[in-house]
Amino acid sequence: MRSVLEKIARAEGVDTSFLEEKIRQNRVVVPLNGARKNIERPVAIGEGLTVKVNANIGGSPDITDIVKELKKLRAAVEYGADTVMDLSIGDNWKEVLSAVLENSAVPVGTVPVYAAICRTGSPEELVADDFLDVIRKQGEMGVDFMTIHSGVTRKVIDIYDKKGRTGGIVSRGGKLLYRWMKKNCKENPLYERFDDILDIAREFNITLSLGDGLRPGCIEDASDDPQFAELYELGELTARCRDRKVGVMIEGPGHVPLDKIEENVRKEKEICKGAPFYVLGPLATDVGAGHDHITGAIGGALAAWKGADFLCYLTPAEHLHLPEVEDVYRGVVATKIAAHCADVARGNPRALEADLVMSKARRSLDWSGMEKHAMDPKLVKDAREKYPVKKEKTCTMCGEYCALAD
Ligand code: SF4
Repeated sequence: MRSVLEKIARAEGVDTSFLEEKIRQNRVVVPLNGARKNIERPVAIGEGLTVKVNANIGGSPDITDIVKELKKLRAAVEYGADTVMDLSIGDNWKEVLSAVLENSAVPVGTVPVYAAICRTGSPEELVADDFLDVIRKQGEMGVDFMTIHSGVTRKVIDIYDKKGRTGGIVSRGGKLLYRWMKKNCKENPLYERFDDILDIAREFNITLSLGDGLRPGCIEDASDDPQFAELYELGELTARCRDRKVGVMIEGPGHVPLDKIEENVRKEKEICKGAPFYVLGPLATDVGAGHDHITGAIGGALAAWKGADFLCYLTPAEHLHLPEVEDVYRGVVATKIAAHCADVARGNPRALEADLVMSKARRSLDWSGMEKHAMDPKLVKDAREKYPVKKEKTCTMCGEYCALAD
């Protein structure tokens, strides 16, 4: 582990002792299953570090194609995703996950509830052991971090039932557990058996990402009572993770307008005592369908500037269809830019240096320098080739009236 931390510290530009201290304080996690041997880019997530980006891949019950999922994995890693989550749902989840784990240079996460669903024809017929078996199986396979929706308790869903919502429950895992609890009139098995989950997490060194099954799925529902009731449950579960020395981060919303994002970050940090915050977007408006990688990047930049640590990307396919490889590429680039904007605003020396180098290349019309230092070098190169200029060094925007030419 020491050599992994040294590698991460070098990449971050911090001392290894700083990293160790933050891990000891539970403010930084390093998702790394003891069984994983092929992670070339290990990562640490949390306070005092650069903002990280996750890309979701994986098939659905309607579309499943291992070759395509591996192409998505390659695109995500090539464009700088720090982690990937395989959200495959369908009978061949094990084959897809094995292939992803075998080929991923970065940590891999899952939502085990999705695989558990495939055990029975009807999700409501699952028993607690089905969930635990899948968590163990995925731990054995080498999964580095898992979304566990243990905060969707009966107390929380009672509040949801009483208060109601415009957008309902939009988390796939959250809705499954809600239905399960309603049908079986029992407590959430991921809550009741949380100690058993902690045993498995400790055995395989899995980082738990406590899921937000009641996250708001529209602007109208942002910061409502069910959302924060679940966050308080996650605060208690965080303490139990720490007592058992299991790495933990907290998942957050969702659809949140810009004026409520800072409040959401502050509450998570207070209630969960500084645990790394992993936000899903957030989407700052509901009307961006087809462009939700931009909607998510706007919310993500603000959230990260205000203290969120980890951004889950959105793609142009969000709300519309299973992402294609092109969507993955666009989503990763947009979210990397959001993360970088936050790093700049936080005064991260490496982020500031990257901007300075780019500015100097731009000022001197050094196009190969601009290509090299851009977030998306290939796009810059392709644009130069597609739009040849009459006057050397300028571009077709101003041509001979280029303001930067001497
Ligand atoms: S031509 Fe205009 S847009 Fe292009 S590099 Fe010069 S100043 Fe910038």
